[in-house]
Amino acid sequence: MGKITGFLEFDRKVESYAPVEERVKNYHEFTVPLKDNELKDQGARCMDCGIPFCHSGCPLGNLIPDFNDAVYRGKWDKAAKILHSTNNFPEFTGRLCPAPCEEACVLGINEDPVTIENIEKNIVETAFAKGWVVAEPPATRTDKKVAVVGSGPAGLAAAQQLNRAGHHVTVFERDEKPGGLLRYGIPDFKMEKNIIDRRLKVLEEEGIEFKCGVHVGKDISGEDLKNDFDAVVLSGGATVRRNLPIEGADLKGVVQAMDFLPQNNRRVDGVKTFENEIMATGKDVVVIGGGDTGSDCIGTSIRHGATSVSNFEIMPMSTVERPEGQPWPFWPMRLKTSTSHKEGAERFFSISTKKFLGDKDGNLTGLVTSEVEWIKTPGQRPQLKEVPGTEKEWKCELALLALGFTGSEMTIAEQLGIEADDRTNIKASEADYKTNVPGIFAAGDQRRGQSLIVWAISEGRQAAYHVDTYLMGESALPLKGEGDLPRV
Ligand SMILES: Cc1cc2nc3c(=O)[nH]c(=O)nc-3n(C[C@H](O)[C@H](O)[C@H](O)COP(=O)(O)OP(=O)(O)OC[C@H]3O[C@@H](n4cnc5c(N)ncnc54)[C@H](O)[C@@H]3O)c2cc1C
Ligand code: SF4
Repeated sequence: MGKITGFLEFDRKVESYAPVEERVKNYHEFTVPLKDNELKDQGARCMDCGIPFCHSGCPLGNLIPDFNDAVYRGKWDKAAKILHSTNNFPEFTGRLCPAPCEEACVLGINEDPVTIENIEKNIVETAFAKGWVVAEPPATRTDKKVAVVGSGPAGLAAAQQLNRAGHHVTVFERDEKPGGLLRYGIPDFKMEKNIIDRRLKVLEEEGIEFKCGVHVGKDISGEDLKNDFDAVVLSGGATVRRNLPIEGADLKGVVQAMDFLPQNNRRVDGVKTFENEIMATGKDVVVIGGGDTGSDCIGTSIRHGATSVSNFEIMPMSTVERPEGQPWPFWPMRLKTSTSHKEGAERFFSISTKKFLGDKDGNLTGLVTSEVEWIKTPGQRPQLKEVPGTEKEWKCELALLALGFTGSEMTIAEQLGIEADDRTNIKASEADYKTNVPGIFAAGDQRRGQSLIVWAISEGRQAAYHVDTYLMGESALPLKGEGDLPRV
């Protein structure tokens, strides 16, 4: 433990943000980092608990008190080694994770928790700045070939771990560049894409081969892939979007969030023309769906120059404090207000969209909503009920549907006879990540359903361990929370 009295002396302090009127003029990240001495103080707040509940909150089992202590002592190189021993890509989670570790932090019982996520980001940024993040190719190679389908955080983590074990790894990606939702979902203002590129350079130098623009199941059959490789990891994400099948849903201007966001990321990346250009400029925009995807649509619409942005959420507004029944150290469903929400969106809760309205040319002009309430009966799922007399008409020229995802694309699974679970994801147990077809494994959103980056990295790492064991009879790769420090 760094400073015994640290948690008594220092208040929680995280990085601040550039003013709204400045940051919405572009797509750059807008955080203002803390100074080194401020970060040391934040590291000093960690109590090095006998039972560090932060570990159990983190799906990667990050060795949090150890790197907090190293930061307090100014030993950034040691901190970077500890952090990378359990997390292949802390630069993604340090920016984008909702930080379940902080909700589980013991200090959070009666104080503000340790700023674990921000410390993590600063450790990895220091490591890149100092040139400590370098390729670590394996000393020896096996004769085994592994295919990874999908280059999101799950696929990238699996690929790096399997390459470290000495296997020949090829990552297949249907998009033009690797990164999955990190590149073609999450906007640049949350994470600029050079952050992915600098890590990909390291992975390529380590010997991982990337084949982009290859849609497995179409350009290569699942059968060919299975025959050409000794093992296959399916990590294609859960990308099938949920629709809103109501009157007027086919009007021009009713758009899926996951058509809007990837297009904008490509625009920021320099793509000039699109077949169906989707812009929010000068429009009254309604974002339907109150999650991360909805929040990203808000920030993007505001940067386009929308006239107004409203955000509808069908669930009631949560409390800012932990709700009753979700005590520490569990993840609480509290009201989340993102930086995008604060950029000028108006939020409405317990509201349901009933129909879209259009003009004679088929353009969206508005929509109709009702207020709803959730009726709770003990032992049953809450029932949605419309509140009579609350119908309201809204002006709207762009409605963005951010309603979540219903499952994964199952073409490869169908080609290879792989079983699906009841949510149309690939059936594979967390015990070994094996599908019902020998040699085929699944990880990340394609296995667990749409989730979080930290879970995707964790699943990629765990699946790699089981693939390595399948190929070699045993594995020296680490399991969750073990870290791989002796090998770094
Ligand atoms: C808009 C949005 C914002 C989000 N924001 C956050 C956030 O702030 N924090 C957070 O923790 N999580 C966030 N998430 C969730 C997070 O992005 C995902 O949980 C995570 O990316 C899942 O990783 P993955 O590797 O399993 O899949 P993905 O990232 O979905 O990657 C799958 C990849 O596989 C490719 N692929 C699929 N099928 C094939 C095929 N047949 N052949 C070749 N390639 C294929 C896809 O093109 C894609 O590149 C967000 C999600 C969305 C949609
Ligand atoms: S629970 Fe919080 S205070 Fe305790 S070791 Fe983890 S980060 Fe430090």
